[in-house]
Amino acid sequence: MRSYPSGFRKSQRRELASLTDRNRSDIREGHIMADVHTPEQRSYNMSQIRNKNTKPEELVRKYLFSQGFRYRKNDTRLPGKPDIVLPKYKTVIFVNGCFWHGHEGCRYFVWPKNNEDFWKSKITGNIRRDSDNHTCLEKMGWNVIIVWECQLKKQNLQQTLTQVCAQIKGAIYECNE
Ligand SMILES: [Zn+2]
Repeated sequence: MRSYPSGFRKSQRRELASLTDRNRSDIREGHIMADVHTPEQRSYNMSQIRNKNTKPEELVRKYLFSQGFRYRKNDTRLPGKPDIVLPKYKTVIFVNGCFWHGHEGCRYFVWPKNNEDFWKSKITGNIRRDSDNHTCLEKMGWNVIIVWECQLKKQNLQQTLTQVCAQIKGAIYECNE
């Protein structure tokens, strides 16, 4: 049985259940407050959570599978444990949450007002780690595709998925040149 900070509502527990282990432990330690999200963000998160099987990376995986792509999931042998690895195309895909990975200029990313220093170091740390991992992967000869969670919102979803496919196919084209 998981323990939660007191006062957690059912909806917050569900939201929590969708986060990664690392983030989850931060929350258990009491670092996260319900108000780190703007109302806009919260309704977005909740809409994602209400739909079954719509974890952002799952959306991308399912689409790619339907298009005939075969992949590995969360390959721990590669820097940053990419969400999707397509060996045939020498391509990795990261599906990034806008908040945790600090999506610059995104309406779903705002710096929290509470515990400002904590969040600043946390998120800038994530951004730096992401960037190091991408550099490393590229040096290893991988094409790196980043998909942001906001690009998988209903109105952008189809366009994003189509673009990702084109990028993957473009990668093999470059390989063969
Ligand atoms: Zn975003």
